[in-house]
Amino acid sequence: MEKKITYIEEVKSNKKIHNWYPGRRECTSERILLNPYIGCEVECFFCYALGYPGNFQKFRKEKKIYIYKNFVENLKEQIDKLNIVFCGYLSPVTEPFQEVEKIYCLSERTIKLFVEKNIPIEFITKSVIPESIIELIKMQKHSFGQVSILTPNEDIRKVLMKKGATTSELFENIRNLAKNGIFAVCRIDPIIPFITDNKKELEIVIKRAIDNGAKHIVASIMDIPVLIKSDIMNYIKKKFGNEIWQKIETLYIERIGNYLHANINYRREIFTFLREVCDKLNITFALCMEYEIKNGKVIGLNKEFMTSFNCEGIDIPVYFRKNDKFYPFTCKGNCLNCKKGNCGIPELAQGKKNENFDGWNYYDYLRWNKIIEKEKLL
Ligand code: SF4
Ligand code: SF4
Repeated sequence: MEKKITYIEEVKSNKKIHNWYPGRRECTSERILLNPYIGCEVECFFCYALGYPGNFQKFRKEKKIYIYKNFVENLKEQIDKLNIVFCGYLSPVTEPFQEVEKIYCLSERTIKLFVEKNIPIEFITKSVIPESIIELIKMQKHSFGQVSILTPNEDIRKVLMKKGATTSELFENIRNLAKNGIFAVCRIDPIIPFITDNKKELEIVIKRAIDNGAKHIVASIMDIPVLIKSDIMNYIKKKFGNEIWQKIETLYIERIGNYLHANINYRREIFTFLREVCDKLNITFALCMEYEIKNGKVIGLNKEFMTSFNCEGIDIPVYFRKNDKFYPFTCKGNCLNCKKGNCGIPELAQGKKNENFDGWNYYDYLRWNKIIEKEKLL
C-alpha cells in the first residue's frame, strides 16, 4: 500500500539566505531562494527535487514533509541586517501553496514579510493561488507570479501529478494575476516527450495563457535525474504504455552532470516551434535550464532562443534599504549579462566569482552592505 504523507515539524532552522547555486546557471537575475517546506504534495512523477539529497530522499522514500516552523522569523532576522536585497523566489524545490501551507502559512507569511519591506517576491505554482496572496503581491510593484501549465488536457494533467489545481483553475490563476495588474508568466515546464509535446496542444496552452493575460512564456523539456531514472521510467511504462516508454528510453541519450536530456535535435525542434508561435502571438519567450554539449563544453541554449531581456520576462532591479524599507536601484537586474555593475558591486555583474564560489549567500550580502555604505549608494 502507498505510504501516506506526514508532516515533520523541524522547529529550528538557522538556514542562511542563499542565491542561485553555481554551475550551469542560465537565470539572468539574482534571486533569494526561499524553501520553507522540503517535500511536495503535488507529487509530479517527474519532480527533479526527488533526486536531491538529505530530507528530499526522506520525502521520496518515507513521504515526510519537513516544515521549517521558524522559517519567517529566521529570514526576518537576516533581512533586518541587510542594506541590499534581490527579489525572493518561492520556491525552487516545492509548491508554495500545497496543502501543508493551509496549516503553517509559511509561504504567505514570507510574502507578507517581503511586501511589507517593499522587497519584490515571485512564486511558481501548480495550485490555486489564494486570494490573500494576490492581495499582498499586488502591493509590491516588481512582484509577480508564474503558473505552470503543462497541457490543456485535464485527463493527462491528472496522470502527471497527484494533486494541484485543475487545468481551468490554472488558467484562472493567470487571469486573476493579470486582472490585478500583476505580471503573469505561463510556464510549460517541463514538456514531456510523446506525452505533452503535441504541437497543436502546446499552441493551445500559449493561446489560452495569452487570452487570460499572460505576458511571457517559459519552457523546458523534461530532464531525468539519473538517481531516480528507474522511478520515472517505471511510472511512464505503467501509465503510458510500453511504446512511449521505449521511445523515451531511446530519446534520452545525452547526459550532462547527473541528468539525462532528450536528444538535442528533438529539443531544438520544439524550442524553435515554441519561439515561432510566441513571436507570431507577440509574447516573449525563454527557456529554463536548457543546455547542449558543443566541442566538449556545456552551453546554455537561452542565448539562442530567449526573446525577452531577462529570462522570466520581467526586469527587476536590485533594491537598496532606506530606513525600514527597500527601494529599487536604476538597473534592469540582468546581472548575468551586466557589463558594468553600476550598482557598486562589480562582482555581481556576469556572476563573477572565484573557484571556491558556492553561490552568493548571507555573508556576501553582509560584505556588500559595507561596499554600498562606503560608496554612499544608500
Ligand atoms: S509542484 Fe514542483 S516541487 Fe512539487 S512535485 Fe511538482 S515539480 Fe516537484
Ligand atoms: S547593476 Fe548590474 S550587476 Fe548590479 S544589480 Fe544591476 S544588473 Fe546586477
